[in-house]
Amino acid sequence: MQDIQKLISGFRRFQRQFFHSDDTLFDQLRRKQTPKVLVIGCSDSRVDPAIVTDCRPGDLFVIRNVANLVPPYEPDSHYHGVSSALEYAVRFLEVEHIIVLGHSQCGGIDALMRSSEQTPIGEFIDHWVDIARPAKHAVLKDLSSKPPELQCRACEQAAMLISLENLLTFPWITDRVEQGKLAIHGWYFDLEAGEMLSYNPETCLFEKLVGNVR
Ligand SMILES: [Zn+2]
Repeated sequence: MQDIQKLISGFRRFQRQFFHSDDTLFDQLRRKQTPKVLVIGCSDSRVDPAIVTDCRPGDLFVIRNVANLVPPYEPDSHYHGVSSALEYAVRFLEVEHIIVLGHSQCGGIDALMRSSEQTPIGEFIDHWVDIARPAKHAVLKDLSSKPPELQCRACEQAAMLISLENLLTFPWITDRVEQGKLAIHGWYFDLEAGEMLSYNPETCLFEKLVGNVR
């Protein structure tokens, strides 16, 4: 009950800030949202995109799932939660940036690295993280002698590249990227170091976007 009380107190503070003060943000937001940035982040409690980037209500349109994955474009009759949110953000809100926000110590990627057909992790997780299976194969091939932590980190970053590629399988995303209306970014939050890295497609490396403050 204490945990829920903490959330209720938190909402009271939020309410004071945005509904009792002179802050007029919600005067506009109650009419409509106009976020310019879509973030695809992990469900992990430590990597909330709005908290990590110190954003305000209305700034970010956010999709969160296990291991911040983007599935490929599959216009069929299955339930597509990620694809429908992508469609809404890109075609209707017309966001100008998409950030795939990966992170270190990702439980979803750890599950991908540990799962096998003989020993599945759960009922749904294995099939979901299978989106990034090529990343696991590449890591196991190239870094077979490295410790598991290093393999996981490499897989977290390689999986992000698969998500970035999968974004471009959606025709309305590719169109907007080609027209210069939409830019795609890959950010990796290193939560041990407290740093943000960004994928540079020219060097094919994750480079420091914001280094350590300590
Ligand atoms: Zn994660």
